[in-house]
Amino acid sequence: MAYKCPRCGAEVSRGTSRGVTAAAGLVGALFYMAFGAFQCPKCGKIPRSEFSPEDRAKMTRGTLILVAVAVAIAVGVIALLANWN
Ligand SMILES: [Zn+2]
Repeated sequence: MAYKCPRCGAEVSRGTSRGVTAAAGLVGALFYMAFGAFQCPKCGKIPRSEFSPEDRAKMTRGTLILVAVAVAIAVGVIALLANWN
């Protein structure tokens, strides 16, 4: 998923953080990616409101997929732990 920066046209990426990944694990990292700001290499953080409506629609879809994956993993882990004994 690549989006263009509305200010300079460079490619932005979803923000990721090693610290969050270490602290909260894979599920936390997925939630961070789903709700975190987008990052432009030149302009820094770009709020969603600055992107075009088409890009925002795509982002919403991407976010829903990420959340679905995170929830599926969380449910899987809980099911595994519940059946552990
Ligand atoms: Zn930019």
